[in-house]
Amino acid sequence: MSGINFEKLKKEVWDRDNCSGCGACVAVCPADAIVFLDNDKSHPVNTGYCKDLNDNVPCGACYSVCPRTDSANIKGSMMGDFLEIKAAKSAYEVSGKQSGGAVTAILSNALDKGFIDAVVTVSEDKWNHKPKSVVITSKEAMIYSAGSRYNWWIPTLFALKEAVFKKKYANIAVIGTPCAVSALRLMKESDNDLLKPFGKSIRLIFGLFCTETFDYESLVEGKLKNEFGIEAWEIERLDVKGRLEVTLTDGTKNDISLKDLEGCIRKGCLSCTDLTAVDSDISAGAIGSPEGYTTIVVRTEEGKGFLTSAVNSGNLVLSDDVDLGPIERLAEKKAKRG
Ligand SMILES: Cc1cc2nc3c(=O)[nH]c(=O)nc-3n(C[C@H](O)[C@H](O)[C@H](O)COP(=O)(O)OP(=O)(O)OC[C@H]3O[C@@H](n4cnc5c(N)ncnc54)[C@H](O)[C@@H]3O)c2cc1C
Ligand code: SF4
Ligand code: SF4
Repeated sequence: MSGINFEKLKKEVWDRDNCSGCGACVAVCPADAIVFLDNDKSHPVNTGYCKDLNDNVPCGACYSVCPRTDSANIKGSMMGDFLEIKAAKSAYEVSGKQSGGAVTAILSNALDKGFIDAVVTVSEDKWNHKPKSVVITSKEAMIYSAGSRYNWWIPTLFALKEAVFKKKYANIAVIGTPCAVSALRLMKESDNDLLKPFGKSIRLIFGLFCTETFDYESLVEGKLKNEFGIEAWEIERLDVKGRLEVTLTDGTKNDISLKDLEGCIRKGCLSCTDLTAVDSDISAGAIGSPEGYTTIVVRTEEGKGFLTSAVNSGNLVLSDDVDLGPIERLAEKKAKRG
């Protein structure tokens, strides 16, 4: 027994209410023995089998990818290292886009060009707005999936195992919030043999800025339905802009203060210090750019290649109109949270 197994993860992360819900441990467990239970989604559990504990075969895959362990070497917070920052928008209509539709345009272009063969991302059930982890392989599906999922319901990276082992995609882009991004970077850089198939298959890590996520049941079924009388199917769009803006299908807008939503935030988000996904190849947010644009932070040469190709192909429009001040202030505020 190596001692690096789910029990160490449980002690350092699950028992401290520090789990972000990124789902990396769920995706990489070779025995599929780590799951989130319906009655307590604050952290996953082990269902009874562990290679290391039961069969004395070294594993530790779950522990090695978790961004919340004592030994996870996360780069830090604030803005992180970057090559350039731009405001960007899709050159074509993306009806469900959250900001400028730049994430959709960059990754749709990459699929069209054959740079990647799949995107692992979080889509949603349009009836009840429950997020779902999915594997996407076409521009049409990217456009359908546009928009931000501020709710948490499933381990975000769940579909990564399907993409790597079942579908055997060799060049995958993964979109994630900063916690998922850090887990993906750990996956890519780990020397654990069990993680090598994941590391080799991930070509691009695309981060989304993030202040927090809300527990689906607390927000949609609790707050919105019980307190505001809003049924999930009536919601056209959710947007966080210093408050939660809920747009209904009849065009009505409801504003809810973030203070009023504090009870809906996932516990694991309360200790999170990374706003801008410092471990990504490229990351995107709303803050800092004019309405209708996405702020794009390019951090690596891979990220730069994906961005430049989308521009050169006429799929993405860039602008230098980015105001770093508000991004840095929000990043600093979040960095102090830990
Ligand atoms: C939980 C959360 C909190 C955020 N908080 C902030 C914030 O505080 N400040 C800020 O400036 N920006 C924040 N963002 C980012 C912002 O909402 C937009 O996602 C970003 O500006 C990109 O916009 P876009 O129009 O280019 O993306 P789009 O073209 O709309 O594409 C978005 C892509 O992201 C995928 N996606 C959506 N939700 C998730 C998710 N939870 N995990 C993984 N993939 C997902 C979609 O499937 C889609 O492919 C947040 C995003 C999320 C998901
Ligand atoms: S933070 Fe992610 S990897 Fe760590 S225990 Fe939670 S779901 Fe698993
Ligand atoms: S606030 Fe941090 S832990 Fe929570 S979803 Fe965002 S990146 Fe993950």
